[in-house]
Amino acid sequence: MCGIFGVRGHDDAVGLTKLGLFSLQHRGQESAGIVAVENGAARGVRSMGLVSDMPLLQLEALRGTLAIGHTRYSTAGSSSIENAQPVLVSSRGGHIALAHNGNLTNAGELRADLEESGSIFASSMDSEVIVHRMARSNAPLPEEKLVDALRDVEGAYSLLISMADTLLAARDPRGWRPLVLGRLNGAPVFASETCALDIVGATFEREVEPGEIIAVDANGERSLFPFERRELKRCVFEHVYFARPDSRIFGGSVDRARRALGRQLARECPVPGADLVFSVPDSSNSAAIGFAEESGVPYELALIRNHYVGRTFIQPSQASRIAKVRLKFSAVREVLDGKRVVMVDDSIVRGTTTRALVSLVRGAGASEVHMRVSSAPVTGPCYYGIDTPSRDELIAATHNQEEIRDSLGVDSLGYLTLDGMLESVPSGPDGFCHACFSGDYPTAPPTDPNKLRFGCGC
Ligand code: 5GP
Ligand code: SF4
Ligand code: MG
Repeated sequence: MCGIFGVRGHDDAVGLTKLGLFSLQHRGQESAGIVAVENGAARGVRSMGLVSDMPLLQLEALRGTLAIGHTRYSTAGSSSIENAQPVLVSSRGGHIALAHNGNLTNAGELRADLEESGSIFASSMDSEVIVHRMARSNAPLPEEKLVDALRDVEGAYSLLISMADTLLAARDPRGWRPLVLGRLNGAPVFASETCALDIVGATFEREVEPGEIIAVDANGERSLFPFERRELKRCVFEHVYFARPDSRIFGGSVDRARRALGRQLARECPVPGADLVFSVPDSSNSAAIGFAEESGVPYELALIRNHYVGRTFIQPSQASRIAKVRLKFSAVREVLDGKRVVMVDDSIVRGTTTRALVSLVRGAGASEVHMRVSSAPVTGPCYYGIDTPSRDELIAATHNQEEIRDSLGVDSLGYLTLDGMLESVPSGPDGFCHACFSGDYPTAPPTDPNKLRFGCGC
């Protein structure tokens, strides 16, 4: 997954983009980058790690009234600076810089076609095919080049692109990933989530619509809907896990969505006689509060998260996961000792983190641990931007619920039903992708899913 931010027509475009990226850091911590455009000339800085790790001197040297930025999520095997974004190239129509959130499902085919006719690629990212296709287009305007580039592209994309002096924003026709438009002193500001508008003081104007391309240049703003309408497939996992609770995405509040998920969970899978409910911070905080509100079981802070353990310090190998969990979380004995507890989490993917957390909670004295999950079981990989592992690593794809309960070491286990989940999110239940929960994939799977996981890191 990734976070994207862009602004045009503001003297402090770089500073605003940096701030915006800080509040989109949860969408990606592997690399960060900013491209700034001054009088049509673009320069960029990309670096591995967090936004705060970006080289200050180089950032201070960036100038321009147009800037786009990107935070990239970690994916297996693709952790390299070549795959950091924004991608920046020069073309006969001027520079092209691109920041992408999502995954293209037919990038392999598109790339093979381009390579066949002589293109060479600088990264393993699916996003790079869009840049190549734009550069090849003979259309006069940047937005027309983008239409040409996106014509045969399948899959998920929220894009911010600068070409010469134009800023382009685009969202795929199914609207998989969020993208919003705000305004600051008249300047348009685009961001993955509204929390990035808030941090720069921009007011939310509207979402970039699914299938829409917005072009901003010296002549103003133009909106196009060049593609066939498709059925809406907004990612329900954004509401469940990914987006920040202070954001509004897909026409609704993430906090309200998570509380509703938690309340529905309490209705579907109550725990009679429980002493307390707690969350696995931070992603399930709002859902656990919803569970507590609906059930009347007191909400407690039983797990404390250490926010200062850098991701780079933590090795992703399976063997070190238990140590990783202990570095990241600790349990409050005074809250848990002798108690029948409800542990709420937003999702179970591999089950390894959850298993280690359960042992931590038992170690702090809990007498019974009842696990409640504010989403349906994850039974399939995501091809549209979230880096879920392959099917054989997903615990719910290979085990039934009793086996999962046993494997996690909990006294009872309850997942939200798919219907309950979809009914709980704002503007649900229709218009959402739920493929990783239901197996109902809106597109053909990529021909080489592993290669495509390189993606934008998404
Ligand atoms: P598991 O027990 O499956 O190893 O981990 C479950 C935890 O992973 C939950 O707390 C959930 O919030 C978190 N999670 C769910 N999806 C993702 C993801 O795509 N990336 C990361 N880093 N964590 C995730
Ligand atoms: Fe979201 Fe799952 Fe669909 Fe991927 S497969 S877009 S994570 S709902
Ligand atoms: Mg979590």
